[in-house]
Amino acid sequence: MKRLIMIKYASEIFLKGLNKSKFEKKLRDNIKRALRGVEFTFVEDSGRWFLESNDIDEAVERLKKVFGVSEICLVTQIKSDYEEIKKQSLLEVKESGAATFKIETNRANKSFPKNSMEVSREVGAYVLENLPDISVDIHKPQCTVHLDLRNDTYVYSKVIKGLNGMPYGTNGKTLLMLSGGIDSPVAGYMMARRGVEVECVYFHSPPYTSERAKDKVKKLAEILTEYTGRTTLYVVPFTDIQMQIIEKCREDELTIIMRRFMMSVSCRIAKDNEIHSVATGESIGQVASQTMQGLVVSDDCADRPAFRPLIAMDKIDIMDISRKIGTYDTSILPYEDCCTIFVPKHPKTKPVLEVIRKSESVLDKEKLIDEAVKNMEIIRIGH
Ligand code: ATP
Ligand code: MG
Repeated sequence: MKRLIMIKYASEIFLKGLNKSKFEKKLRDNIKRALRGVEFTFVEDSGRWFLESNDIDEAVERLKKVFGVSEICLVTQIKSDYEEIKKQSLLEVKESGAATFKIETNRANKSFPKNSMEVSREVGAYVLENLPDISVDIHKPQCTVHLDLRNDTYVYSKVIKGLNGMPYGTNGKTLLMLSGGIDSPVAGYMMARRGVEVECVYFHSPPYTSERAKDKVKKLAEILTEYTGRTTLYVVPFTDIQMQIIEKCREDELTIIMRRFMMSVSCRIAKDNEIHSVATGESIGQVASQTMQGLVVSDDCADRPAFRPLIAMDKIDIMDISRKIGTYDTSILPYEDCCTIFVPKHPKTKPVLEVIRKSESVLDKEKLIDEAVKNMEIIRIGH
């Protein structure tokens, strides 16, 4: 008898047809990397994945942060011997303390002498005989004992939900504009959960934004690497650009022009580093610059897809995710960001592309972008 973890992966991966093995391999590699520092062995039994570890609790915690894992089952491996199966099932129900139960059998080993219905019924009857206060509930049992009949038999009732999603690193790359706020880390998480590799860019405006504000962004990037393993954070000096905009452009156009610069610089970095797309934490209507017209005007500076995974989400729901993924407490630390310092009193909420292009034309955009990119700091996290 052995205690093991059985890993089930997202049903989406099953739908990948001929590519399935590529996704499986990536997921297996990601699992192994997530378990760095934990002693484990990885075993397969007819298509199922098992982990043996002397630190099951820690292994489970790590697996809970691997995209593509759908269920983490705490299983007991026994010989495919009917008496043993019955005893282990009884133990499982007893230990759960449940008042109702059912047995669910999956007979992958077709040479097992009884069919799955018979097994469920007979094992269920055995449990009932031995636990007089318990009853069977087929529809909503408090405890479901799964019997997975393979070469050996795997018995389990404890199932921990995984994150689902696609294995990280199977869907190209994006450059996330990561500010210190609540939204952008959530946007990065959502892209990563679809298997997209996420690198980060932060626009830093010293001395108007402090080292602490930068450290906060770094911390957020680090939290994201709990899910992704590693990232690169490009810290772009943004003060000169902002000063030029303030000096030469209309006050009510500051924000939108600044956002255009962020988009242009991000796309430049993406291009230089073979990153396919960019991503932001924008959500329609959330603040003055996140109007449909505002998005149109900043998108004009994108030479590749600019993804906004939160576009149709409510703030409340974004905050929920942020708490769940562990970025919220860092996001709400009160350090200023470059946008809050240069906010116009009455920002344009319906900017017109031609008008903004014209206003912006007084700036030497290419030179400003070159300078910013030349002087950026590159921080590797989790490498
Ligand atoms: P967040 O909560 O992500 O800060 P926000 O609600 O404060 O978003 P804005 O300040 O309008 O909204 O920023 C919109 C998006 O622009 C952010 O989600 C982020 O992707 C990007 N962004 C804003 N400021 C910065 C910055 N200093 N560095 C990098 N990206 C930024
Ligand atoms: Mg912000």
